[in-house]
Amino acid sequence: MKIIIPNIAVPEVKYTFHCLIKEFLGLEYKIETSPTAKDFTIIIGSKKLVIQNHFFKNDDPQVLYQKQNLPTQVISNEWIIEGKQYPLYAIFGKPTWTETKDEIIVEADIIAATFFMLTRWEETLAGERDKHQRFLGKNSLAYQNGFLEKPIVNQYVEIVWAFLQKSKITQTRKQRTFEIVPTHDVDIPFLFPSFMYGLRTIARYLISPTYFWDGINYLKFYLKGEDPYDTHEVFLEGAEKLGVKAHFFFMAGCHNRFDPRDQLAHPKVKALIEKIKKRGHQIGLHPSYKSYDDPTIFSQEKKRLEKVAGQKVTTGRQHYLRFKNPTTWNLWENENMKWDSTMSYADEIGFRNGVCYPFPVFDIFARKKLNLLERSLILMEGTLGLYMDISLDKAKGRVGELINQVKKYDGDFVFLWHNSSLNLRQYSKYNSILTEIYNYKK
Ligand SMILES: [Zn+2]
Repeated sequence: MKIIIPNIAVPEVKYTFHCLIKEFLGLEYKIETSPTAKDFTIIIGSKKLVIQNHFFKNDDPQVLYQKQNLPTQVISNEWIIEGKQYPLYAIFGKPTWTETKDEIIVEADIIAATFFMLTRWEETLAGERDKHQRFLGKNSLAYQNGFLEKPIVNQYVEIVWAFLQKSKITQTRKQRTFEIVPTHDVDIPFLFPSFMYGLRTIARYLISPTYFWDGINYLKFYLKGEDPYDTHEVFLEGAEKLGVKAHFFFMAGCHNRFDPRDQLAHPKVKALIEKIKKRGHQIGLHPSYKSYDDPTIFSQEKKRLEKVAGQKVTTGRQHYLRFKNPTTWNLWENENMKWDSTMSYADEIGFRNGVCYPFPVFDIFARKKLNLLERSLILMEGTLGLYMDISLDKAKGRVGELINQVKKYDGDFVFLWHNSSLNLRQYSKYNSILTEIYNYKK
């Protein structure tokens, strides 16, 4: 298979083909630039698959990534290829394709659309942020056009594969299996690490109008000698029931009021880390609030957790899902991290990168692919309870549909549940969703 691309935005286009063809489909190809090419052409024998270029007409990131280059509307369509139906959202170009004897012409620019979703260049544009400087899911093109809960890049992968098969490709695609990936940001490992700490915490809850009833609830735990945050066993057993590894991301620094008080040095936390390791589950880093654009803090916290855990730490997720594009990814890259799982909107569940496969990230300003992989987070229980505040029934329906989507593409269903949520009123109403995930039968 040979791919011919224009001599414009070469690193960007090469990166996108690398993700689609090599990472996701597992196929080999040669890629060449041509000064006369305007579109992207995949050649297999005498057959040509032409994907129209509607976006990469300039080399300069400052020119490419501008608000005026965002479509105002995304049109969806259903394509029939060799008798099978394929959903498609055309972010750039038209939602159609045509065919002659030796040529298929795809009028939707799925290269630009894939690049748009994977790099999230939309999120570098000036605009509204929340009080934690986060880009809001509600403001994304995906949410506004009703496709945030659809992995549209996976849809493109299937379309490319269908056309390659139609063109009689002889290579076979990479085999994948659907996987549930439980992750846990351990913000506060224990609510009562010590007698006095416990009393002070309960007092704080009891004087808060919002958390009064949680304070009463916690007091009951306290009097029984139990800790309402010590729910780690539920996560260990749940993952073991599924036959998968759970990922526990620990904090290793406290620099402002959005970071919980540091517990990493506490013997109970050390014992918890040992237990997680012994049971074969994974320890990762949950870098603190300010670390997302601070290499010194990030590096210190990584080293500290590695020392306590007695092992290298190469995975994790930013606290509060704080993320600056592409600064945060570069911090992770420079610390030799293998994968990050920060990419989810705090305010809306779904596919922030439009994909349920791990993928290498791209620095849009340095114009290069990094080694770091992103494993986008698809569901956080806090989004259901704090931001969306939807009923259990509605949440079950939405989560069930997300899992169906991931299963359809044999992807990774990465979800986040906090140990603190199981006994906190605001979130405990969703506990049965967690139970259903753990009971999920492939
Ligand atoms: Zn956190």
